[in-house]
Amino acid sequence: MKINTKTAFRFAEKVVFGSANDCWNWVGAIKDNGYGNFYADGKTISAHRAAYILAYGTILSEQIMHTCDNRRCVNPHHLLNGTRQQNMEDMVLKGRSSSGEKRWNTTLTRERVNYMRKMFLSGKTPSQISKLLNYKYGTVYQIVTNRRWIEKA
Ligand SMILES: [Zn+2]
Repeated sequence: MKINTKTAFRFAEKVVFGSANDCWNWVGAIKDNGYGNFYADGKTISAHRAAYILAYGTILSEQIMHTCDNRRCVNPHHLLNGTRQQNMEDMVLKGRSSSGEKRWNTTLTRERVNYMRKMFLSGKTPSQISKLLNYKYGTVYQIVTNRRWIEKA
């Protein structure tokens, strides 16, 4: 499934962004099971799944799990796909556990650019966004101040 620019923007409007360690609560529609509900690419998906796609580009397994037990949370640092979770457990068992979570894929897509700008508009500083999303400060600064990725109207 694809999440286009407009959809990414719409998604970000429903998120209360916090620090990398905080839960980023979804304030859009909530399903009966407690998970956020989001409409993208012609279908309804869980908000945390959409968040995962936005952060990492794709979902590798059916299961996206929260490491924080907060079903409304859409912080990509708190989301794991089943496969990766198992990998991590394997690593822990083998005593090779690193500090952990895979960082955002550093490829800059238009969706991520918009995501950054939205965070900036919601009050995050370039420095905070840089730390949260693991992009270089200079890159983030240029993006949120529109010095890069100037889109044609
Ligand atoms: Zn969380």
